[in-house]
Amino acid sequence: MEIACLDLEGVLIPEIWIAFAEKTGIDELKKTTRDEPDYDVLMRYRLDILKRHGLGLGEIQEVIATLQPLDGAVEFVQWLRQRFQVVILSDTFYEFAQPLMRYLDYPALLCHQLEVDASGAVQNYCLRQANPKRQAIVAFKSMYYRTIAAGDSYNDTSMLIEADAGILFHAPARVIEEFPQFPAVHNYADLKQQFVLASERELTL
Ligand SMILES: [Mg+2]
Repeated sequence: MEIACLDLEGVLIPEIWIAFAEKTGIDELKKTTRDEPDYDVLMRYRLDILKRHGLGLGEIQEVIATLQPLDGAVEFVQWLRQRFQVVILSDTFYEFAQPLMRYLDYPALLCHQLEVDASGAVQNYCLRQANPKRQAIVAFKSMYYRTIAAGDSYNDTSMLIEADAGILFHAPARVIEEFPQFPAVHNYADLKQQFVLASERELTL
């Protein structure tokens, strides 16, 4: 049996922090895992900016409520779930992702949690575990599942390396250049094709 592991932001939904940066006009919040590969450094930077501007979870959730999945994402996830067990492996937070999961019919989601105080201020964040995307793949492999993973950014590359097959989707040029071993596609039709190819390749091994 095979498990399809998908990144969330940039693959199925817009980048939440970028949407929030645009809405608030705080350009410093446009930095993502594409720009800063160290997730802890990136999150400390974001929490510091929120604190300076007096913004909390409520303000972020207001922006999230206006977001929709990327064009074609809903149909893609439906297609994928008919063929594979699908698990979303994300570096976002349940507090952010949950409202968007209804569009995708609530696939399994493994991500992080925020620590929010009574006033709504984000005090800290709690990672599910260290190197979470890669460790999820390691765990699925320990259950003798084959894994095919797709993601768009630096924080996905350890997952793609660990998986039986890795696919870059919507990735920026420098990620594609740095990781030439992965097929790189830019639309859902090609992504479907890569999942089919990876699955067929695995079946013939
Ligand atoms: Mg992403």
